[in-house]
Amino acid sequence: MRTLLSIPARQKQALVFPAVLTAFILNLLLLVYSPIAGLNFIENQVSLATALLKIAYLTIFYLHLIPLLDQYPKRDWVILVFNTIVAVFIEFIGHLLPLGYSFICIILMTAVSALIFNRWYTYAFLACASFAHIVTLGLNSQNVTDSVFLDLFFLPLLGIATTETLLKLQSSLQWEINRQQIINKVSRSLSSSLEIHQVITMVTTAVQSALDADTYYFGLIEEDTVHLELFYDDGEFFPSMNVPIEGTLAGRVIQTRQPLLIVDLPEERKKLNIDFKLVGKNKVSLSWLGVPLISGKEVLGIIAVASYQKAAFDQRDQELLENIGQRAAMALDNAYHHLEVETRSQMDSLTGVLNHNTFLARLEQMVQTTQVCGQPVSLIMLDIDHFKQYNDTYGHLTGDRVLIELTQTIRHHIKKDDLVGRWGGEEFIIALPDTQPEQAYLVAERIRAACQKIIILDRDKKVIPAPTISQGIACLPRDTTVLEKLIDIADQRLYVAKERGRNQIQAHTTVNDSLVSKN
Ligand code: GH3
Ligand code: MG
Ligand code: MG
Repeated sequence: MRTLLSIPARQKQALVFPAVLTAFILNLLLLVYSPIAGLNFIENQVSLATALLKIAYLTIFYLHLIPLLDQYPKRDWVILVFNTIVAVFIEFIGHLLPLGYSFICIILMTAVSALIFNRWYTYAFLACASFAHIVTLGLNSQNVTDSVFLDLFFLPLLGIATTETLLKLQSSLQWEINRQQIINKVSRSLSSSLEIHQVITMVTTAVQSALDADTYYFGLIEEDTVHLELFYDDGEFFPSMNVPIEGTLAGRVIQTRQPLLIVDLPEERKKLNIDFKLVGKNKVSLSWLGVPLISGKEVLGIIAVASYQKAAFDQRDQELLENIGQRAAMALDNAYHHLEVETRSQMDSLTGVLNHNTFLARLEQMVQTTQVCGQPVSLIMLDIDHFKQYNDTYGHLTGDRVLIELTQTIRHHIKKDDLVGRWGGEEFIIALPDTQPEQAYLVAERIRAACQKIIILDRDKKVIPAPTISQGIACLPRDTTVLEKLIDIADQRLYVAKERGRNQIQAHTTVNDSLVSKN
Protein backbone atom coordinates (compact mmCIF):
# COMPACT_ATOMS: atom_id res chain seq x y z
CA MET A 1 0.00 0.00 0.00
CA ARG A 2 1.28 3.46 -0.86
CA THR A 3 1.65 5.65 2.22
CA LEU A 4 1.34 9.39 2.43
CA LEU A 5 5.00 9.43 3.42
CA SER A 6 5.82 8.49 -0.11
CA ILE A 7 3.80 11.28 -1.71
CA PRO A 8 5.76 14.01 -3.50
CA ALA A 9 6.94 17.18 -1.74
CA ARG A 10 4.45 19.37 -3.56
CA GLN A 11 1.58 17.39 -2.07
CA LYS A 12 3.19 17.50 1.37
CA GLN A 13 3.45 21.28 1.07
CA ALA A 14 -0.24 21.43 0.18
CA LEU A 15 -1.08 19.28 3.22
CA VAL A 16 0.77 21.45 5.74
CA PHE A 17 -0.09 24.76 4.08
CA PRO A 18 -2.98 25.71 6.45
CA ALA A 19 -0.85 25.05 9.56
CA VAL A 20 2.16 26.92 8.13
CA LEU A 21 -0.04 29.84 7.05
CA THR A 22 -1.60 30.06 10.52
CA ALA A 23 1.88 30.09 12.11
CA PHE A 24 2.94 32.77 9.63
CA ILE A 25 -0.05 34.99 10.52
CA LEU A 26 0.58 34.38 14.23
CA ASN A 27 4.14 35.66 13.85
CA LEU A 28 3.04 38.64 11.77
CA LEU A 29 0.64 39.51 14.60
CA LEU A 30 3.51 39.17 17.07
CA LEU A 31 5.57 41.51 14.92
CA VAL A 32 2.79 44.11 14.97
CA TYR A 33 1.97 43.47 18.64
CA SER A 34 5.52 43.99 19.97
CA PRO A 35 5.79 47.79 19.38
CA ILE A 36 2.20 48.61 20.47
CA ALA A 37 1.75 46.41 23.53
CA GLY A 38 3.81 48.56 25.92
CA LEU A 39 6.30 45.77 26.59
CA ASN A 40 9.55 46.36 28.43
CA PHE A 41 12.75 46.54 26.42
CA ILE A 42 13.76 42.90 26.73
CA GLU A 43 10.28 41.56 26.03
CA ASN A 44 10.00 43.84 23.04
CA GLN A 45 13.36 42.75 21.62
CA VAL A 46 12.62 39.04 22.27
CA SER A 47 9.15 39.31 20.62
CA LEU A 48 10.51 41.06 17.55
CA ALA A 49 13.45 38.66 17.22
CA THR A 50 11.21 35.61 17.73
CA ALA A 51 8.66 36.80 15.18
CA LEU A 52 11.35 37.55 12.57
CA LEU A 53 13.27 34.33 13.19
CA LYS A 54 10.09 32.25 13.14
CA ILE A 55 8.89 33.85 9.89
CA ALA A 56 12.31 33.12 8.36
CA TYR A 57 12.28 29.53 9.66
CA LEU A 58 8.73 28.93 8.40
CA THR A 59 9.69 30.17 4.94
CA ILE A 60 12.83 28.03 4.82
CA PHE A 61 10.97 25.01 6.23
CA TYR A 62 8.12 25.29 3.75
CA LEU A 63 10.09 26.18 0.62
CA HIS A 64 13.37 24.32 1.14
CA LEU A 65 13.23 21.73 3.89
CA ILE A 66 10.05 19.93 2.77
CA PRO A 67 11.41 19.42 -0.80
CA LEU A 68 14.59 17.99 0.74
CA LEU A 69 12.47 15.11 2.05
CA ASP A 70 12.15 13.94 -1.57
CA GLN A 71 15.89 13.92 -2.10
CA TYR A 72 16.89 12.53 1.28
CA PRO A 73 13.93 10.52 2.55
CA LYS A 74 16.13 8.71 5.08
CA ARG A 75 17.39 12.01 6.54
CA ASP A 76 13.91 13.23 7.51
CA TRP A 77 14.88 13.00 11.19
CA VAL A 78 17.34 15.89 10.65
CA ILE A 79 14.42 18.23 9.85
CA LEU A 80 12.57 16.89 12.84
CA VAL A 81 15.58 17.66 15.06
CA PHE A 82 15.56 21.26 13.69
CA ASN A 83 11.85 21.56 14.47
CA THR A 84 12.41 20.21 17.96
CA ILE A 85 15.23 22.67 18.67
CA VAL A 86 13.00 25.54 17.48
CA ALA A 87 10.11 24.31 19.67
CA VAL A 88 12.29 23.87 22.77
CA PHE A 89 13.78 27.32 22.21
CA ILE A 90 10.32 28.92 21.93
CA GLU A 91 9.27 27.17 25.13
CA PHE A 92 12.24 28.48 27.05
CA ILE A 93 11.62 32.09 26.01
CA GLY A 94 7.83 31.59 26.24
CA HIS A 95 7.45 33.60 29.46
CA LEU A 96 8.81 36.68 27.64
CA LEU A 97 6.25 36.30 24.84
CA PRO A 98 2.49 36.93 24.80
CA LEU A 99 0.44 34.35 26.68
CA GLY A 100 -0.38 31.30 24.58
CA TYR A 101 2.06 32.09 21.76
CA SER A 102 4.46 29.22 22.41
CA PHE A 103 1.53 26.90 23.08
CA ILE A 104 -0.11 27.56 19.70
CA CYS A 105 3.27 27.35 17.95
CA ILE A 106 3.97 23.89 19.38
CA ILE A 107 0.49 22.59 18.51
CA LEU A 108 0.88 23.84 14.94
CA MET A 109 4.29 22.20 14.69
CA THR A 110 2.85 18.96 16.09
CA ALA A 111 0.16 19.07 13.39
CA VAL A 112 2.80 19.58 10.69
CA SER A 113 4.86 16.66 12.05
CA ALA A 114 1.82 14.39 12.11
CA LEU A 115 1.07 15.29 8.50
CA ILE A 116 4.52 14.74 7.02
CA PHE A 117 6.35 12.44 9.42
CA ASN A 118 5.23 9.22 11.03
CA ARG A 119 3.59 8.69 14.41
CA TRP A 120 6.79 8.03 16.40
CA TYR A 121 8.62 11.06 15.04
CA THR A 122 5.65 13.22 15.99
CA TYR A 123 5.54 11.85 19.52
CA ALA A 124 9.31 12.29 19.91
CA PHE A 125 8.84 15.93 18.93
CA LEU A 126 5.84 16.35 21.23
CA ALA A 127 7.64 14.70 24.15
CA CYS A 128 10.63 17.08 23.82
CA ALA A 129 8.39 20.14 23.45
CA SER A 130 6.16 19.05 26.38
CA PHE A 131 9.20 18.38 28.53
CA ALA A 132 10.51 21.87 27.79
CA HIS A 133 7.01 23.21 28.50
CA ILE A 134 6.83 21.50 31.89
CA VAL A 135 10.36 22.51 32.87
CA THR A 136 9.78 26.17 31.96
CA LEU A 137 6.43 26.18 33.77
CA GLY A 138 8.18 24.79 36.84
CA LEU A 139 10.99 27.34 36.57
CA ASN A 140 8.69 30.30 36.06
CA SER A 141 6.01 29.65 38.64
CA GLN A 142 6.74 30.10 42.33
CA ASN A 143 4.11 27.71 43.62
CA VAL A 144 2.36 24.98 41.60
CA THR A 145 -1.26 26.03 41.72
CA ASP A 146 -4.21 24.01 40.36
CA SER A 147 -4.26 25.99 37.13
CA VAL A 148 -0.52 25.45 36.53
CA PHE A 149 -1.01 21.74 37.28
CA LEU A 150 -3.70 21.56 34.57
CA ASP A 151 -1.53 23.62 32.28
CA LEU A 152 1.23 21.02 32.63
CA PHE A 153 -0.87 18.40 30.89
CA PHE A 154 -2.74 20.62 28.51
CA LEU A 155 -0.04 20.79 25.83
CA PRO A 156 0.76 17.05 25.68
CA LEU A 157 -2.93 16.13 25.72
CA LEU A 158 -3.86 18.54 22.97
CA GLY A 159 -0.77 17.43 21.06
CA ILE A 160 -1.82 13.77 21.32
CA ALA A 161 -5.40 14.62 20.27
CA THR A 162 -4.13 16.63 17.28
CA THR A 163 -1.69 13.88 16.24
CA GLU A 164 -4.18 11.04 16.54
CA THR A 165 -6.94 12.95 14.73
CA LEU A 166 -4.66 13.82 11.86
CA LEU A 167 -3.22 10.30 11.67
CA LYS A 168 -6.72 8.86 11.62
CA LEU A 169 -7.67 11.21 8.81
CA GLN A 170 -4.45 10.30 7.06
CA SER A 171 -5.15 6.57 7.26
CA SER A 172 -8.67 7.07 5.86
CA LEU A 173 -7.18 9.15 3.11
CA GLN A 174 -4.56 6.50 2.45
CA TRP A 175 -7.24 3.84 2.28
CA GLU A 176 -9.27 5.96 -0.14
CA ILE A 177 -6.22 6.66 -2.34
CA ASN A 178 -5.37 2.97 -2.34
CA ARG A 179 -8.95 2.02 -3.17
CA GLN A 180 -9.12 4.52 -6.02
CA GLN A 181 -5.83 3.27 -7.42
CA ILE A 182 -6.99 -0.33 -7.32
CA ILE A 183 -10.33 0.54 -8.93
CA ASN A 184 -8.61 2.60 -11.62
CA LYS A 185 -6.13 -0.17 -12.30
CA VAL A 186 -8.86 -2.82 -12.47
CA SER A 187 -10.99 -0.62 -14.74
CA ARG A 188 -8.09 0.11 -17.05
CA SER A 189 -6.96 -3.48 -17.32
CA LEU A 190 -10.48 -4.90 -17.58
CA SER A 191 -11.53 -2.50 -20.32
CA SER A 192 -8.91 -4.02 -22.60
CA SER A 193 -9.45 -7.68 -21.73
CA LEU A 194 -11.78 -9.69 -23.87
CA GLU A 195 -10.78 -13.10 -22.72
CA ILE A 196 -12.53 -14.76 -19.78
CA HIS A 197 -9.37 -16.10 -18.15
CA GLN A 198 -7.63 -12.76 -18.49
CA VAL A 199 -10.57 -11.12 -16.69
CA ILE A 200 -10.40 -13.65 -13.87
CA THR A 201 -6.64 -13.26 -13.44
CA MET A 202 -6.84 -9.47 -13.37
CA VAL A 203 -9.70 -9.40 -10.90
CA THR A 204 -8.11 -11.86 -8.51
CA THR A 205 -4.80 -9.96 -8.68
CA ALA A 206 -6.68 -6.78 -7.72
CA VAL A 207 -8.52 -8.56 -4.90
CA GLN A 208 -5.26 -9.92 -3.58
CA SER A 209 -3.65 -6.48 -3.44
CA ALA A 210 -6.78 -4.77 -2.08
CA LEU A 211 -7.81 -7.07 0.73
CA ASP A 212 -6.03 -8.85 3.49
CA ALA A 213 -7.34 -12.27 2.55
CA ASP A 214 -5.89 -15.72 3.20
CA THR A 215 -8.26 -17.26 0.69
CA TYR A 216 -9.93 -15.95 -2.44
CA TYR A 217 -11.64 -17.34 -5.49
CA PHE A 218 -13.58 -16.37 -8.57
CA GLY A 219 -16.66 -18.55 -9.08
CA LEU A 220 -18.61 -18.92 -12.31
CA ILE A 221 -22.07 -20.42 -12.41
CA GLU A 222 -22.28 -23.72 -14.25
CA GLU A 223 -25.83 -25.06 -14.16
CA ASP A 224 -26.54 -25.80 -10.47
CA THR A 225 -22.91 -25.60 -9.36
CA VAL A 226 -20.35 -22.86 -8.91
CA HIS A 227 -17.11 -23.47 -10.77
CA LEU A 228 -14.31 -22.09 -8.57
CA GLU A 229 -11.56 -20.68 -10.75
CA LEU A 230 -8.19 -19.50 -9.47
CA PHE A 231 -8.85 -20.83 -6.03
CA TYR A 232 -6.13 -19.52 -3.69
CA ASP A 233 -5.76 -20.62 -0.11
CA ASP A 234 -2.98 -19.76 2.31
CA GLY A 235 -0.17 -19.29 -0.20
CA GLU A 236 -1.22 -22.01 -2.62
CA PHE A 237 -3.35 -22.19 -5.78
CA PHE A 238 -5.72 -25.15 -5.98
CA PRO A 239 -7.10 -26.79 -9.13
CA SER A 240 -10.47 -25.39 -10.14
CA MET A 241 -13.42 -27.28 -8.69
CA ASN A 242 -17.19 -27.26 -8.63
CA VAL A 243 -19.21 -26.69 -5.45
CA PRO A 244 -23.00 -26.92 -5.27
CA ILE A 245 -25.07 -23.72 -5.22
CA GLU A 246 -27.47 -25.22 -2.72
CA GLY A 247 -26.27 -25.06 0.88
CA THR A 248 -23.01 -23.14 0.35
CA LEU A 249 -22.00 -19.57 1.15
CA ALA A 250 -21.21 -18.93 -2.52
CA GLY A 251 -24.62 -20.31 -3.43
CA ARG A 252 -26.30 -18.06 -0.89
CA VAL A 253 -24.70 -14.96 -2.43
CA ILE A 254 -25.77 -16.12 -5.87
CA GLN A 255 -29.32 -16.97 -4.81
CA THR A 256 -29.91 -13.75 -2.85
CA ARG A 257 -27.96 -11.64 -5.39
CA GLN A 258 -26.66 -9.73 -2.35
CA PRO A 259 -23.18 -9.38 -0.87
CA LEU A 260 -22.53 -11.36 2.29
CA LEU A 261 -20.11 -10.21 5.00
CA ILE A 262 -19.45 -12.60 7.86
CA VAL A 263 -17.18 -11.42 10.68
CA ASP A 264 -17.42 -14.56 12.80
CA LEU A 265 -17.95 -17.56 10.59
CA PRO A 266 -18.28 -20.34 13.21
CA GLU A 267 -20.89 -18.25 15.04
CA GLU A 268 -22.86 -17.23 11.93
CA ARG A 269 -22.74 -20.74 10.58
CA LYS A 270 -25.39 -21.89 13.06
CA LYS A 271 -27.67 -18.96 12.25
CA LEU A 272 -27.31 -19.30 8.47
CA ASN A 273 -27.91 -23.03 8.68
CA ILE A 274 -25.27 -23.73 6.09
CA ASP A 275 -23.36 -26.95 5.98
CA PHE A 276 -19.79 -25.86 5.28
CA LYS A 277 -17.72 -27.77 2.85
CA LEU A 278 -14.04 -27.44 3.58
CA VAL A 279 -12.23 -26.65 0.33
CA GLY A 280 -8.53 -25.89 -0.13
CA LYS A 281 -6.42 -26.23 3.02
CA ASN A 282 -7.65 -28.18 5.99
CA LYS A 283 -8.17 -25.00 8.03
CA VAL A 284 -11.41 -23.28 8.96
CA SER A 285 -11.81 -19.65 7.87
CA LEU A 286 -13.13 -17.32 10.57
CA SER A 287 -14.37 -14.48 8.38
CA TRP A 288 -15.80 -14.41 4.89
CA LEU A 289 -16.90 -11.88 2.29
CA GLY A 290 -18.56 -12.61 -1.04
CA VAL A 291 -20.16 -10.43 -3.71
CA PRO A 292 -22.26 -11.54 -6.68
CA LEU A 293 -21.23 -10.75 -10.24
CA ILE A 294 -24.40 -9.38 -11.79
CA SER A 295 -24.77 -8.36 -15.40
CA GLY A 296 -28.24 -7.04 -16.23
CA LYS A 297 -30.65 -9.55 -14.78
CA GLU A 298 -28.22 -12.42 -14.81
CA VAL A 299 -25.90 -13.55 -12.02
CA LEU A 300 -22.69 -14.72 -13.68
CA GLY A 301 -20.78 -15.77 -10.59
CA ILE A 302 -19.15 -14.63 -7.39
CA ILE A 303 -15.92 -13.22 -5.99
CA ALA A 304 -15.21 -14.31 -2.45
CA VAL A 305 -12.45 -13.77 0.09
CA ALA A 306 -11.90 -15.43 3.45
CA SER A 307 -9.51 -15.08 6.35
CA TYR A 308 -8.28 -17.19 9.24
CA GLN A 309 -8.77 -14.12 11.45
CA LYS A 310 -12.10 -13.03 12.88
CA ALA A 311 -13.53 -9.73 11.59
CA ALA A 312 -10.84 -9.48 8.90
CA PHE A 313 -13.18 -7.57 6.57
CA ASP A 314 -15.46 -4.62 7.18
CA GLN A 315 -18.07 -2.55 5.38
CA ARG A 316 -15.41 -0.64 3.46
CA ASP A 317 -13.89 -3.89 2.17
CA GLN A 318 -17.36 -4.98 1.10
CA GLU A 319 -17.86 -1.73 -0.82
CA LEU A 320 -14.49 -2.15 -2.52
CA LEU A 321 -15.20 -5.75 -3.46
CA GLU A 322 -18.64 -4.77 -4.75
CA ASN A 323 -17.02 -2.10 -6.87
CA ILE A 324 -14.49 -4.57 -8.29
CA GLY A 325 -17.32 -7.07 -8.74
CA GLN A 326 -19.40 -4.65 -10.83
CA ARG A 327 -16.48 -4.01 -13.14
CA ALA A 328 -15.62 -7.70 -13.28
CA ALA A 329 -19.22 -8.57 -14.22
CA MET A 330 -19.18 -6.05 -17.05
CA ALA A 331 -15.84 -7.31 -18.32
CA LEU A 332 -17.02 -10.91 -18.02
CA ASP A 333 -20.16 -10.10 -19.97
CA ASN A 334 -18.03 -8.50 -22.70
CA ALA A 335 -15.74 -11.52 -22.73
CA TYR A 336 -18.72 -13.89 -23.04
CA HIS A 337 -20.10 -11.87 -25.95
CA HIS A 338 -16.74 -11.72 -27.59
CA LEU A 339 -16.37 -15.48 -27.22
CA GLU A 340 -19.86 -16.01 -28.63
CA VAL A 341 -19.19 -13.81 -31.66
CA GLU A 342 -15.82 -15.42 -32.23
CA THR A 343 -17.23 -18.93 -31.89
CA ARG A 344 -20.11 -18.09 -34.21
CA SER A 345 -17.73 -16.72 -36.81
CA GLN A 346 -15.87 -20.04 -36.74
CA MET A 347 -18.98 -22.13 -37.25
CA ASP A 348 -21.24 -23.06 -40.06
CA SER A 349 -24.46 -21.21 -39.31
CA LEU A 350 -26.80 -24.03 -40.39
CA THR A 351 -25.23 -27.05 -38.71
CA GLY A 352 -23.08 -25.52 -35.97
CA VAL A 353 -19.99 -27.51 -36.98
CA LEU A 354 -16.71 -25.74 -37.85
CA ASN A 355 -16.67 -23.85 -41.12
CA HIS A 356 -14.21 -24.74 -43.88
CA ASN A 357 -11.46 -22.24 -42.92
CA THR A 358 -11.63 -22.82 -39.18
CA PHE A 359 -11.55 -26.58 -39.70
CA LEU A 360 -8.40 -26.23 -41.80
CA ALA A 361 -6.73 -24.00 -39.21
CA ARG A 362 -7.62 -26.38 -36.36
CA LEU A 363 -6.52 -29.38 -38.39
CA GLU A 364 -3.12 -27.75 -38.95
CA GLN A 365 -2.78 -27.22 -35.19
CA MET A 366 -3.86 -30.79 -34.52
CA VAL A 367 -1.32 -32.18 -37.00
CA GLN A 368 1.46 -30.12 -35.43
CA THR A 369 0.63 -31.38 -31.94
CA THR A 370 0.19 -35.01 -32.91
CA GLN A 371 3.40 -34.99 -34.99
CA VAL A 372 5.33 -33.90 -31.89
CA CYS A 373 3.90 -36.88 -29.99
CA GLY A 374 4.38 -39.21 -32.98
CA GLN A 375 0.65 -39.89 -33.21
CA PRO A 376 -1.34 -40.51 -36.41
CA VAL A 377 -4.31 -38.40 -37.60
CA SER A 378 -7.13 -39.92 -39.63
CA LEU A 379 -9.42 -37.94 -41.89
CA ILE A 380 -12.90 -38.93 -43.02
CA MET A 381 -14.37 -37.08 -46.00
CA LEU A 382 -18.13 -37.61 -46.07
CA ASP A 383 -20.75 -36.72 -48.69
CA ILE A 384 -24.50 -37.29 -48.80
CA ASP A 385 -25.58 -39.44 -51.71
CA HIS A 386 -27.88 -37.97 -54.35
CA PHE A 387 -28.63 -35.02 -52.18
CA LYS A 388 -29.71 -32.91 -55.12
CA GLN A 389 -32.43 -35.40 -55.80
CA TYR A 390 -33.37 -35.34 -52.13
CA ASN A 391 -33.75 -31.60 -52.24
CA ASP A 392 -35.70 -31.72 -55.46
CA THR A 393 -38.11 -34.31 -54.10
CA TYR A 394 -38.67 -33.13 -50.51
CA GLY A 395 -37.79 -29.48 -50.66
CA HIS A 396 -34.76 -27.45 -49.64
CA LEU A 397 -35.92 -26.99 -46.02
CA THR A 398 -36.20 -30.75 -45.54
CA GLY A 399 -32.72 -30.99 -47.07
CA ASP A 400 -31.49 -28.51 -44.46
CA ARG A 401 -32.95 -30.65 -41.69
CA VAL A 402 -31.11 -33.65 -43.10
CA LEU A 403 -27.85 -31.71 -42.88
CA ILE A 404 -28.55 -30.78 -39.24
CA GLU A 405 -29.53 -34.34 -38.29
CA LEU A 406 -26.47 -35.72 -40.04
CA THR A 407 -24.07 -33.45 -38.14
CA GLN A 408 -25.74 -34.40 -34.86
CA THR A 409 -25.29 -38.05 -35.76
CA ILE A 410 -21.61 -37.44 -36.57
CA ARG A 411 -21.06 -35.60 -33.30
CA HIS A 412 -22.70 -38.42 -31.43
CA HIS A 413 -20.16 -40.88 -32.78
CA ILE A 414 -16.92 -38.95 -32.35
CA LYS A 415 -14.81 -38.04 -29.32
CA LYS A 416 -14.42 -34.65 -27.61
CA ASP A 417 -11.03 -33.99 -29.21
CA ASP A 418 -12.14 -34.96 -32.72
CA LEU A 419 -12.98 -32.19 -35.20
CA VAL A 420 -15.90 -31.99 -37.56
CA GLY A 421 -16.33 -29.34 -40.23
CA ARG A 422 -18.52 -28.53 -43.20
CA TRP A 423 -16.26 -28.80 -46.20
CA GLY A 424 -18.90 -27.41 -48.53
CA GLY A 425 -22.56 -28.02 -49.52
CA GLU A 426 -23.44 -31.50 -48.30
CA GLU A 427 -19.87 -32.56 -47.77
CA PHE A 428 -18.37 -32.89 -44.27
CA ILE A 429 -14.91 -33.65 -42.96
CA ILE A 430 -13.90 -35.32 -39.71
CA ALA A 431 -10.41 -35.33 -38.16
CA LEU A 432 -9.56 -38.01 -35.60
CA PRO A 433 -6.30 -37.47 -33.67
CA ASP A 434 -4.32 -40.46 -32.41
CA THR A 435 -6.42 -42.73 -34.66
CA GLN A 436 -5.25 -45.37 -37.15
CA PRO A 437 -7.34 -45.90 -40.33
CA GLU A 438 -8.70 -49.19 -38.99
CA GLN A 439 -10.24 -47.36 -36.02
CA ALA A 440 -11.36 -44.48 -38.27
CA TYR A 441 -13.06 -47.05 -40.45
CA LEU A 442 -15.06 -48.30 -37.46
CA VAL A 443 -16.12 -44.73 -36.65
CA ALA A 444 -17.13 -44.14 -40.29
CA GLU A 445 -19.07 -47.37 -40.32
CA ARG A 446 -20.94 -46.43 -37.13
CA ILE A 447 -21.85 -43.06 -38.65
CA ARG A 448 -22.98 -44.72 -41.89
CA ALA A 449 -25.16 -47.18 -40.00
CA ALA A 450 -26.58 -44.47 -37.74
CA CYS A 451 -27.43 -42.32 -40.76
CA GLN A 452 -29.76 -44.94 -42.03
CA LYS A 453 -31.70 -44.69 -38.80
CA ILE A 454 -32.23 -40.93 -39.02
CA ILE A 455 -35.94 -40.18 -39.01
CA ILE A 456 -36.92 -37.19 -41.14
CA LEU A 457 -40.48 -35.99 -41.70
CA ASP A 458 -41.53 -34.12 -44.82
CA ARG A 459 -43.94 -31.15 -44.99
CA ASP A 460 -46.89 -33.55 -44.59
CA LYS A 461 -45.27 -35.11 -41.47
CA LYS A 462 -44.61 -38.33 -43.36
CA VAL A 463 -41.39 -40.20 -42.71
CA ILE A 464 -39.09 -39.95 -45.73
CA PRO A 465 -36.20 -42.30 -46.58
CA ALA A 466 -33.06 -41.68 -44.51
CA PRO A 467 -30.08 -40.31 -46.46
CA THR A 468 -27.15 -42.50 -47.30
CA ILE A 469 -23.57 -41.30 -47.22
CA SER A 470 -20.28 -42.16 -48.87
CA GLN A 471 -16.96 -41.75 -47.08
CA GLY A 472 -13.26 -41.68 -47.94
CA ILE A 473 -10.58 -42.20 -45.29
CA ALA A 474 -6.93 -41.14 -45.32
CA CYS A 475 -4.34 -41.33 -42.57
CA LEU A 476 -1.30 -39.33 -41.68
CA PRO A 477 1.51 -40.47 -41.76
CA ARG A 478 0.47 -43.81 -43.29
CA ASP A 479 -0.81 -42.35 -46.59
CA THR A 480 1.24 -39.16 -46.68
CA THR A 481 3.03 -36.75 -44.37
CA VAL A 482 1.72 -33.67 -46.19
CA LEU A 483 -1.56 -32.24 -44.95
CA GLU A 484 -2.82 -30.99 -48.36
CA LYS A 485 -2.18 -34.40 -49.86
CA LEU A 486 -3.97 -36.08 -46.98
CA ILE A 487 -7.13 -34.09 -47.76
CA ASP A 488 -6.77 -34.88 -51.48
CA ILE A 489 -6.40 -38.59 -50.79
CA ALA A 490 -9.51 -38.66 -48.56
CA ASP A 491 -11.40 -36.78 -51.29
CA GLN A 492 -10.23 -39.21 -54.01
CA ARG A 493 -11.30 -42.17 -51.89
CA LEU A 494 -14.69 -40.57 -51.35
CA TYR A 495 -14.97 -40.31 -55.12
CA VAL A 496 -14.05 -44.00 -55.41
CA ALA A 497 -16.78 -44.85 -52.85
CA LYS A 498 -19.26 -42.88 -54.97
CA GLU A 499 -18.09 -44.64 -58.11
CA ARG A 500 -18.48 -48.01 -56.48
CA GLY A 501 -22.14 -47.39 -55.83
CA ARG A 502 -22.37 -44.97 -52.84
CA ASN A 503 -23.43 -45.69 -49.21
CA GLN A 504 -19.97 -47.09 -48.50
CA ILE A 505 -16.54 -46.34 -47.09
CA GLN A 506 -13.25 -46.32 -48.97
CA ALA A 507 -10.15 -46.45 -46.79
CA HIS A 508 -7.51 -47.63 -49.27
CA THR A 509 -6.51 -46.55 -52.70
CA THR A 510 -6.44 -49.97 -54.39
CA VAL A 511 -9.80 -51.28 -55.46
CA ASN A 512 -9.22 -54.76 -54.06
CA ASP A 513 -8.42 -53.60 -50.60
CA SER A 514 -10.21 -55.16 -47.71
CA LEU A 515 -11.33 -51.99 -45.98
CA VAL A 516 -14.25 -51.33 -48.28
CA SER A 517 -17.74 -51.75 -47.00
CA LYS A 518 -20.57 -52.14 -49.39
CA ASN A 519 -24.17 -52.36 -48.47
P1 GH3 B 1 -23.66 -37.31 -55.11
O1 GH3 B 1 -24.23 -38.56 -54.59
O2 GH3 B 1 -22.84 -37.57 -56.35
O3 GH3 B 1 -22.94 -36.54 -54.10
O4 GH3 B 1 -24.89 -36.50 -55.63
P2 GH3 B 1 -25.44 -35.13 -54.98
O5 GH3 B 1 -26.74 -34.87 -55.60
O6 GH3 B 1 -25.41 -35.28 -53.53
O7 GH3 B 1 -24.33 -34.14 -55.42
P3 GH3 B 1 -24.43 -32.75 -56.13
O8 GH3 B 1 -23.06 -32.13 -55.96
O9 GH3 B 1 -24.92 -32.94 -57.54
O10 GH3 B 1 -25.48 -31.95 -55.37
C1 GH3 B 1 -25.26 -31.43 -54.09
C2 GH3 B 1 -26.53 -30.76 -53.64
O11 GH3 B 1 -26.45 -30.35 -52.31
C3 GH3 B 1 -26.86 -29.56 -54.48
C4 GH3 B 1 -27.30 -28.54 -53.52
O12 GH3 B 1 -28.59 -28.05 -53.79
C5 GH3 B 1 -27.33 -29.26 -52.21
N1 GH3 B 1 -26.97 -28.42 -51.13
C6 GH3 B 1 -25.76 -27.82 -50.91
N2 GH3 B 1 -25.81 -27.06 -49.79
C7 GH3 B 1 -27.08 -27.19 -49.28
C8 GH3 B 1 -27.74 -26.64 -48.14
O13 GH3 B 1 -27.20 -25.87 -47.35
N3 GH3 B 1 -29.02 -27.00 -47.94
C9 GH3 B 1 -29.68 -27.83 -48.79
N4 GH3 B 1 -30.92 -28.17 -48.54
N5 GH3 B 1 -29.08 -28.35 -49.86
C10 GH3 B 1 -27.79 -28.03 -50.13
MG1 MG C 1 -23.63 -35.59 -52.56
MG1 MG D 1 -21.07 -33.07 -52.86
